Amino acid sequence: MEDINLFLAHAVELEREAARRYEELADSMRTDGNVAVEAFFRQMAVFSRKHLALAVERGGFRQIPALTPTEYVWPDGLSPEQFDWIGVDCMIDVNNALAIALDGERRGHAFYANIEAITGDPEVRVMAQEFAAEEAEHVAELEKWIGRYATQSSTRPSDPTSEPAGRA
Ligand code: ZN
Repeated sequence: MEDINLFLAHAVELEREAARRYEELADSMRTDGNVAVEAFFRQMAVFSRKHLALAVERGGFRQIPALTPTEYVWPDGLSPEQFDWIGVDCMIDVNNALAIALDGERRGHAFYANIEAITGDPEVRVMAQEFAAEEAEHVAELEKWIGRYATQSSTRPSDPTSEPAGRA
């Protein structure tokens, strides 16, 4: 990945997938009645779109190419954020939703960190580093939420009122 515009084309796709995934996960949390996690996912969807737009704007890039599916260079032939997408449906619980979100952020981070490590282009390296740092923050944030829910279920294992209302 030696071309900043090629890099940005991948970032556009990656962040778009991330935003879509978060919106889908937010919808499933609404079905599940989990208002807090739904709001968190919606906020993450907004961040995905905003961060990318800001980076592109600040860099003054206008030549981001529209790539055909075969022109993308994803590990395993799939966009990293798309990988576990297939598993999302409306019946998943909060722990599964957070796990799917975490997996997406880890793949995103690995993608950018790898480009940062192997690129010979200084401009690409700086931007990949920034995106990798951003993804690392998302990973840490997700881990916090996962820890919160893990604590909840282990400290109140037999309290029926801790179950969200409306679950069969
Ligand atoms: Zn992210």
